[in-house]
Amino acid sequence: MSSLAKNYNRRNLSFLKGKGSFLYASNGKKYLDFVQGIAVNSLGHANPYLVKAINKQSKKLWHVSNSFRIPEGERLAKRLTQKTFAESVIFQNSGAEATEAAIKVAKRYFYSIGKSRKNRILCIKNSFHGRTIATINASGSKKMMEGFGPKIKGFDHFEFGNHKKLKKMITKKTAAVMVEPIMGEGGIKVIPDWCLRELRKICNKTKTLLILDEVQCGIGRSGKFFAFEHAKVKPDIVPIAKGIGGGFPIGAVLMTKKVASGMTPGTHGSTFGGNPLAMSVGNAVLDQIFKKEFLKNVKKLSRYFHSELNKIKEEFPKIIKEVRGIGFLIGLQLFNNQSKFIQKLMDNNLLTIRAAENVIRILPPLNVKKKEIDLALKIIKKVCLTYK
Ligand SMILES: *Cc1c(COP(=O)(O)O)cnc(C)c1O
Repeated sequence: MSSLAKNYNRRNLSFLKGKGSFLYASNGKKYLDFVQGIAVNSLGHANPYLVKAINKQSKKLWHVSNSFRIPEGERLAKRLTQKTFAESVIFQNSGAEATEAAIKVAKRYFYSIGKSRKNRILCIKNSFHGRTIATINASGSKKMMEGFGPKIKGFDHFEFGNHKKLKKMITKKTAAVMVEPIMGEGGIKVIPDWCLRELRKICNKTKTLLILDEVQCGIGRSGKFFAFEHAKVKPDIVPIAKGIGGGFPIGAVLMTKKVASGMTPGTHGSTFGGNPLAMSVGNAVLDQIFKKEFLKNVKKLSRYFHSELNKIKEEFPKIIKEVRGIGFLIGLQLFNNQSKFIQKLMDNNLLTIRAAENVIRILPPLNVKKKEIDLALKIIKKVCLTYK
């Protein structure tokens, strides 16, 4: 019996090692891993460049307190700001910490300009921003909040696509609207570009901050560094995590200089966040993703993947309802519950993971090879052919 708590519904499968897009299981089988730790291993398993970077730093310095300067973190922050809307960064260790810090930044900004009553956060009902007490309240999901009451104050919600309610819910008291440009856990639901642009306009008019949660869809996953770049909008605050560490736990909140002005000494902190070991890995991940051809390649290969998946959808219109997503954040929506299909893919050595709305999430590493995509397509088609 495992001494681990039962808060996960784990599959009876474990792995000995990974290499690129593949995982080698203790049962002797080799799996094509299109989960990659849920969009975390952006450069695949045991990437030689990352292995070298972490080994090198591990021999020099792992951890020092944030009460000292950390040059590796200053470098990573500088690189993140040079390439994006952001002018300032706070490092964390995970996605939930990053979204939670984003909420703090928004509230603190209005406090710092003497508008402390502008402190409410507006989110999409049943969205996902993490599992801390604040972030489950942000999600507004009854299921995630069950048993974790009382409900905490300061969060409002509107349903995905309900623009009337969204406009109504932004009041004088709203500090920020927080949404994911592409809802990951929510079923790979893409917020259309025109909606994001409209939302930016509404936020400008009402002096509300726009937080775009890029924890899952960011760091190249969509074919652009940030998913919101597709819509050409400029957010105020952006939490990131998953992909930036390539498998090492890193989170961060990126923001404009204006909103960062509220985060004076003592307002926020993290013991581990931004330590030299993590920052060296983050820099190594960016070395790869910032390469000239890297995102072009993600765009090209993901376009191919989407179009081939759509062909399979056409061929099996009674099984697959929709191919969703952008880049390598892909959702196959089935008409029925997706568990059996995911199991069959696994029986055929392809690992995928569920999302809401009967969606199978397909998350290859960003440096996946075409022949690995072809292998996945072959397996998906095979499962469709025998699926009842
Ligand atoms: C995964 C995720 C989080 C939470 O990240 P953790 O590292 O699990 O805390 C927050 N927001 C989004 C959009 C996510 O996908």
